[in-house]
Amino acid sequence: MNIRDAEPILRAATTLTERAVARASEITKQGTAIDEHQVLSSRVAYAATEARAAKELLDFTTSLGARATPERERLAIAGVAELATSARDRLLPLLDDLGMSEDDLDAVYGPAVRAAIRRAGHESVLRQIGRAVAEEKGRGDVPLDETLEQVRHNVREFANAEVAPHAEHLHRHDDLVPEAFIQKMGEAGFFGLSVPEQYGGFEMGNVAMIITTEELSRASLAGAGSLITRPEILAKALLAGGTDEQKREWLPKIGSGELMVGISVTEPNVGSDVASLSCRAERRTVGGVEGWVLNGPKSWCTFAGRADILALLARTDPDTSKGAKGLSLFIVPKEQNRGHDFSFTQPSGGKIEGKADRTPGYRGMHSFTLSLEDYFVPAKNLIGEKGGENKGFYLQMAGFAAGRLQTGGRACGVAQAALEKTAEYVSERTQFKRPIIEFQLTQYHLGRMATKLAASRAITYAAAQAMDVDERRAAPLAAQAKLFACDAAVEITQTGQLLHGGWGYAEEYAISRYVVDAQVLPIFEGVKPILELKVVARSLFGG
Ligand SMILES: Cc1cc2nc3c(=O)[nH]c(=O)nc-3n(C[C@H](O)[C@H](O)[C@H](O)COP(=O)(O)OP(=O)(O)OC[C@H]3O[C@@H](n4cnc5c(N)ncnc54)[C@H](O)[C@@H]3O)c2cc1C
Repeated sequence: MNIRDAEPILRAATTLTERAVARASEITKQGTAIDEHQVLSSRVAYAATEARAAKELLDFTTSLGARATPERERLAIAGVAELATSARDRLLPLLDDLGMSEDDLDAVYGPAVRAAIRRAGHESVLRQIGRAVAEEKGRGDVPLDETLEQVRHNVREFANAEVAPHAEHLHRHDDLVPEAFIQKMGEAGFFGLSVPEQYGGFEMGNVAMIITTEELSRASLAGAGSLITRPEILAKALLAGGTDEQKREWLPKIGSGELMVGISVTEPNVGSDVASLSCRAERRTVGGVEGWVLNGPKSWCTFAGRADILALLARTDPDTSKGAKGLSLFIVPKEQNRGHDFSFTQPSGGKIEGKADRTPGYRGMHSFTLSLEDYFVPAKNLIGEKGGENKGFYLQMAGFAAGRLQTGGRACGVAQAALEKTAEYVSERTQFKRPIIEFQLTQYHLGRMATKLAASRAITYAAAQAMDVDERRAAPLAAQAKLFACDAAVEITQTGQLLHGGWGYAEEYAISRYVVDAQVLPIFEGVKPILELKVVARSLFGG
């Protein structure tokens, strides 16, 4: 089979999903009536995302030219076939709503395309991939250019030496990320990957950032990979709307790791509906300093204990009918605390309290429910100062677009770890007097895991490159990368767990950690249904 065999398959998936998107755009009045057609919108958005992942997988592999080994080409061809099949099946129940007939579908996925899919996605192809993955213990790296290869090499060495040996202990004991990680990651420049050089950062472009995230997450999602997401989100918000003085004051400290960051948007009663936030900010002068006092609850603020500053979204306009237009983003300084709960009182009497909520995975950073009472922040800590008042929602969203891209990288890292551990396990585990990799079904499952991961990586790297060119325009692609890669990570880790049998459920085996870690990925930074509807569908249908 040749890589070109995948082209007609990709054309079919692209044609079908483009038609579906065009029709969904009409039905939802250019995305303004998505809520009246939620199921259709989510399916079309997801199918379009699958087609996009297929395109990026094929483009990436083709771009490798002579560096594309037959194994890598096989991965791409089978991946495109799987994604094209899934996109079509997802749309099948909606044909009538999309104004398409069976004949229309047949015209796109005609006999030649269907035959190509049967060849490209045949179980024997996936088994062949699975056998190759097992042989190389899941470690077949994608070729990169020289600089990026060096980045991957350096970060991997760091993650293997400094993070991986502690990852299990951290998880099982729900310890906090060790200070040594923070110090060494700071020295290595990992916190400054989104901070421009003029502010003391080490910006090398989004692909380098993704590769760094991926390698750190491969060692430990919460212990290392996710540590660099928070500075990324705040740095992007500051770059989008901070004053020059704010950029000069905060970015160097965020980029060096001198200041650890928490992101505080969610509240106990407000998650996806960010525009309804209730945490209030009121003007007050305290000790002769003009500023704001914050009052209200927050929840799920990851790393809030250890963090030195929180990027906190609060309501500055008391008129709740203003919704998102009444919110501002504050940099809230606090004392560091390494416990599972903390309380800090300011000299003025303002108070912040936090209590970590126990979670099955994503341990190591601790996610806190917070309560703020008359907590004072100076006016200069409102991002954008006067000009940023009531613009916090938009700055936060600028930060989240970057955060989502990075979460695509986090998902690839966790999935990579699961692939490697599973490849090792199935090569060593013997049942019925044979290593279980010798069974066809094991090979097939391992092959599918690798195929899904290759597609996740391709769409995430493509989003990273697009973000380098134009962050605003690339934000929807970053959301698609997050949507796809996080789901894939859940599927890959769970399949890996199944292939471990009972031991996959034992804490002693790292795969059980990867499963519970991966499960959080489709939840934060836009829970999957919201990401599908309010980010991906809205951008696709809005034209
Ligand atoms: C471990 C962890 C760490 C986190 N870290 C942070 C952090 O550091 N900072 C932070 O601010 N937040 C954080 N979060 C919060 C996270 O971003 C939210 O959980 C997420 O945005 C979803 O909000 P919610 O939990 O309130 O769910 P809800 O908004 O209540 O949604 C629940 C479900 O309701 C349905 N739903 C809701 N609205 C709609 C709709 N309009 N249409 C269709 N269906 C709908 C969907 O099925 C959705 O999945 C974290 C969460 C977790 C679990």
